[in-house]
Amino acid sequence: MSTQRIYLDNAATTPMDEEVVDLMAETMRQCYGNPSSIHFLGRETRILIEKARKSMAALLGCAPSELFFTSGGTESDNMICRYLVEQGDVQRIISSKLEHHAITHTLENLAQLRGIRVDWVKHNEQGVLDLKNLEMLLAQDLGTSNRTLVTLMHANNELGNLLDLEVVAGLCNKYQAFFHSDTVQTVGHVPLNLQELGIHSVSGSAHKFYGPKGVGFIYLRGGHSWGPLIQGGSQERNMRGGTENLAGIVGMARALEKAIQTMDERRQRLANLRDRLRQGLEGVIPGLEFNGDGKGPRLPHILSLSFPPHPKGEMLLFNLDIEGVCASGGSACSSGAQTRSHVMEALGVPADRTTVRFSLGSRNTAEEMDRVVEILRKIWHEA
Ligand code: PLP
Repeated sequence: MSTQRIYLDNAATTPMDEEVVDLMAETMRQCYGNPSSIHFLGRETRILIEKARKSMAALLGCAPSELFFTSGGTESDNMICRYLVEQGDVQRIISSKLEHHAITHTLENLAQLRGIRVDWVKHNEQGVLDLKNLEMLLAQDLGTSNRTLVTLMHANNELGNLLDLEVVAGLCNKYQAFFHSDTVQTVGHVPLNLQELGIHSVSGSAHKFYGPKGVGFIYLRGGHSWGPLIQGGSQERNMRGGTENLAGIVGMARALEKAIQTMDERRQRLANLRDRLRQGLEGVIPGLEFNGDGKGPRLPHILSLSFPPHPKGEMLLFNLDIEGVCASGGSACSSGAQTRSHVMEALGVPADRTTVRFSLGSRNTAEEMDRVVEILRKIWHEA
């Protein structure tokens, strides 16, 4: 195994910001009271949680009462979809086959268990959603008492394509549908003003913006508590029982503040590095293709490439790993299970091509991009 490490899997998770690590360690050391306890040590930790909520709300353009802390993106997505169905608010869901499994598997499960009808919005080969098709699907409910949930992600985690949330929110409001967006890949990476967007709910996860794993949030417009989805204590305004992840919440708020402060500089720098990597690879791998929307808006740090059929194709990620390069075959879960990415399948990328998702982060350098090009050139062309 190579001694050098080049981490290009930041869409799976980001390394934590050092200052956030220190803040969390200090919080864990000093602030151990249960936030629900009424004594002064409890009150002290309650204040920290509410300060974190207030800070995040200011950064995301919403009211503190509209944010609810969770264990991450998967829980947040599950919570919104399941809750709307369980309350009988929604009988139909519109989504896309390109969503993360946190959404697609939840919807398949709801369809099976609850008989909910799920319609999938069409998309083209670049993964761009067909908004005319979305409107056509929404219009089917006109004049009925059915309320529809539309759940469409802001940025695709495998391709980096961005959806125009304002346009989709406009359509959903026109047809009185509830609009949820999985914004796990965009919180801390692109500017978001939740109130201005007119969206009903979003989900976020701290480990995608240099914060800790296992903590996230939902934004719920209006901040009305839906009552407990996880039964227990009355934490998170009765929405989610269980003692709060204090250090995680404090760390998430600080990580978000830093990610937003450095967003503009990072975006430009990572777009330059991404282009350098792409151009370098195109120069050494004939027949290399780009997955996603090259013309529309997209995240600057995700580069999904499709390698042509080759004897080394199947072992590409393995060989990169041996050389110390961490990348992904699609989403992290599908690479772990060695199954073909459902997104590549939905885009119709031929099964004999190999997809590698390189996702860049704040610590990457131009030298690393050049090194990866050289490593891949060797893997591809030398026996
Ligand atoms: N949604 C998207 C778009 C993601 O990329 C991920 C993680 O990869 C998730 C949801 C799940 O988030 P978490 O790992 O916090 O459960």
